[in-house]
Amino acid sequence: MSSTPSLPRGRFAPSPTGRLHAGSLLAALGSWLFARHAGGEWHVRIEDIDPPREVPGAADAQLRALRRLGLHPDGPVLRQSTRGALYARALERLLDQGDAFVCHCSRSALAAHDGIHRHCVAGARRRDPSIRLRVPEGTHVAFEDAIQGHVSEDVHAVTGDFVLRRADGYWAYQLAVVVDDGAQSMTRIVRGADLLGSTARQIVLQQRLQLASPRYAHLPLLLDARGRKLSKSQDALPFDEREPVAALASAWQLLGQRPLRTTPTDPHDWLAMASAAFEPGRIPRGPLAATHNVADIGAP
Ligand code: GLU
Repeated sequence: MSSTPSLPRGRFAPSPTGRLHAGSLLAALGSWLFARHAGGEWHVRIEDIDPPREVPGAADAQLRALRRLGLHPDGPVLRQSTRGALYARALERLLDQGDAFVCHCSRSALAAHDGIHRHCVAGARRRDPSIRLRVPEGTHVAFEDAIQGHVSEDVHAVTGDFVLRRADGYWAYQLAVVVDDGAQSMTRIVRGADLLGSTARQIVLQQRLQLASPRYAHLPLLLDARGRKLSKSQDALPFDEREPVAALASAWQLLGQRPLRTTPTDPHDWLAMASAAFEPGRIPRGPLAATHNVADIGAP
């Protein structure tokens, strides 16, 4: 179990599935502001555990964009693709404890149960079983989100037994994120509200692995003009890296912050002012409609 450092530690953890866009910029800046405003550390982790969804070159493009924005991590960038041994150890432990089990159920077999696994339904054994976390009846999780407020979930009812290692052999996001947030002693998770629904599962997993639970802040979701989540829509255009301060200022405005007294042209100066002026309590719950000029800030 990791010790909890006294200064807050936050992170930005993009999956390399495309370039940074207005939604991911919000998560990058939001997580940076929460950490820096409190005098804490900010880290970057590339969540490259899903090769079928990965876009070649995306991780490097994301890291370059962060550099141009002046968002420099405190320490080396961690890549999840190099951390399989750590995930395997956690999985082994969960299997030993009886918390995890090998599951032969297919997605089609679970369809009759709304896709939720509460007990095995498969007759046949698969060559490629998945491994799930056992979530018995009565598994309730409640937490206070710094932006979204009180959240409580009956994890057995809502998600049931969830996947830790996929049938295709890849690590599930839930396992990797919990193991890494624990190993890196993260104390403050700031990310988009699209991940609010994952948090209860992550807390259950933290409990089973005896890891301290970080505090959570889920930033408002950005929707495009048709009400679709920005990152999933066709309009999730990358921002213009040649105009980093304009991109940062748009994200700042979406975070409900008051305009800065002056607008430095260098992103580092802008960030120094912003971290001092940051008021976490002003962040709206959302969802927010991204105006057109935010969705495609000077896109090429
Ligand atoms: N890798 C996830 C994503 O890009 C974010 C994970 C997290 O912040 O917990 O959506």
